[in-house]
Amino acid sequence: MSEEIKQVDDQILETDIVFDCPHCLKSLAIDYHGAGLTIPCTDCNELVVVPIPDGMDMSDLDSSDSDLEVRLINLRNILKETESKMTNYKNKIENLQELNSQLERQKAVYLSKIVPLMKRLDILSENLSEVIEIMNIIAGNAEVLEEE
Ligand SMILES: [Zn+2]
Repeated sequence: MSEEIKQVDDQILETDIVFDCPHCLKSLAIDYHGAGLTIPCTDCNELVVVPIPDGMDMSDLDSSDSDLEVRLINLRNILKETESKMTNYKNKIENLQELNSQLERQKAVYLSKIVPLMKRLDILSENLSEVIEIMNIIAGNAEVLEEE
């Protein structure tokens, strides 16, 4: 008994379930024992659920111990794959969190540099208005001197 997806050149039997991969649209065929199983597509490797043909009684499939064993192995493989995907996602999330805290640190550094600069700018503009005031006074005095 084979529950592997058949290759194109394999002979397709009347008992096979023929369906299209929803991801890559490749036509797939599998022994009817594979109905309802989730298996990786031979072409794109995405997981696909084998459709259950109309009128098929699923309880017929799980009648023998070897069927159940194959299902168990299949489930275990899917579980393993899901676990490795989860680990992958976890790593990606950790990387993003690390990146985020790096950015937060950079932001703090920039702020610590900008705040004193802003204070100095304030002082400078205060001094500048004082200078302008003094210059106005000097100019006013000069006018008074010229008039005399
Ligand atoms: Zn596919």
